[in-house]
Amino acid sequence: MARPHDWLIIGAGPQGRFIGSALAAADPSLSITLVDPEAPMQAWRRRAAATGMTFLRSSNAHHLGRHRRSLHDFIAAGGYDRRHTLGYYRRPSLALFNALAEAELACLEHIRQQAEQLTRDGKRWQVQLADGQRLAACHVVLASGPGAVYRPPGLAACEHVFDREFKLGKPKQPTIVVGGGITGAQLALRARDEGHRVAWLTRRAPEPADFDSEPRYAGPLGMRPFLAAGVNERTALLAAARRPGTLPPDIHSQITAALAAGDIDWIQATPVAYRRSELHLADGRVLDAPRVILATGFAAEPAPSSLLGQALEATGGQTDGYGHALIDSDLQLASGLHVTGRPASLQLGPMAGNIKGARWAGERLAALARAEGDTKKPA
Ligand SMILES: Cc1cc2nc3c(=O)[nH]c(=O)nc-3n(C[C@H](O)[C@H](O)[C@H](O)COP(=O)(O)OP(=O)(O)OC[C@H]3O[C@@H](n4cnc5c(N)ncnc54)[C@H](O)[C@@H]3O)c2cc1C
Repeated sequence: MARPHDWLIIGAGPQGRFIGSALAAADPSLSITLVDPEAPMQAWRRRAAATGMTFLRSSNAHHLGRHRRSLHDFIAAGGYDRRHTLGYYRRPSLALFNALAEAELACLEHIRQQAEQLTRDGKRWQVQLADGQRLAACHVVLASGPGAVYRPPGLAACEHVFDREFKLGKPKQPTIVVGGGITGAQLALRARDEGHRVAWLTRRAPEPADFDSEPRYAGPLGMRPFLAAGVNERTALLAAARRPGTLPPDIHSQITAALAAGDIDWIQATPVAYRRSELHLADGRVLDAPRVILATGFAAEPAPSSLLGQALEATGGQTDGYGHALIDSDLQLASGLHVTGRPASLQLGPMAGNIKGARWAGERLAALARAEGDTKKPA
């Protein structure tokens, strides 16, 4: 039987690739393999393109370069001008962010397959791929991204901006974009710019906030007390720290200007059902709606059929009821089985699913790999 992989990383998105690079830098002798049917970072690029985003929401400190100063140095060396950074926090353009990632992330072995099953085999993990291959690994990292898109109750028939096959297409019929967060606002602006007649449906008035969670959680000011709190207190801390449904200042001003100018209609309501091209609202109104696009994010809890769902079932692991897995400080659900992204929030804080979370996951797992390497060295 083939030698087991030291580290098998399921998912070649920003998280999986950064973690793989951090492990390779920690110990170049490790065998590290990415498993993903998609090309590296493809899901990230597809979602960014669907929304029409041109700048990251996070600051210039959040990137996938090797070192803290990587983005700064890359800007200077690559001749990127001011058009590639935005506002007080110098948010990087998507083009700049992606270029740095491609320049600095390690090229690792990549098996272009879907991982379908995860089982324990003695001290190792077995991963079964869609083509029937079975891979054995000492460590498996679940970096499989945010999971299933979220369709609110009654709206199962609507398309979602993060559906894999989503296309905005040419302007035809009037379109309602549902979702008051950054994705909904960006999509409404993109559709307007591409000539669509758009209405933006939100539950609340647009609310500005620089970031999608409190910035103190990007450092010890937030993370020290968070980690000092009991695990059962952290769910409430996460909820208090996150700012869902808010807009950074540039998007807030663009969308409010478009609403004021009448370029985009605004409907403040809660949709409850969509049938026969009609959108039913909680207040009893019924809107003619030939096309409804949801920009309502992702389901928090993992689907039972997902790898994380299977892993929870197989290990008797649990979440806190909000999609955050109960894991140890090495991000392990069980020995050698590591969870990253938003499900790792109880260890990595509210930014676990963000670029910052990828860096932290990479640092923690690299520290573990170094410690394991040290124990194997002759005394
Ligand atoms: C539009 C948008 C903008 C964002 N902007 C920011 C920002 O500005 N700053 C920030 O910090 N964060 C941002 N985020 C949040 C986060 O950084 C991104 O969602 C990022 O892509 C998450 O990376 P990931 O690797 O966890 O997930 P993904 O990019 O989804 O990658 C996961 C990969 O896993 C693969 N996969 C899934 N299941 C399997 C399986 N069973 N077998 C094999 N492979 C599998 C998928 O094919 C995918 O390629 C944004 C998110 C979105 C959607």
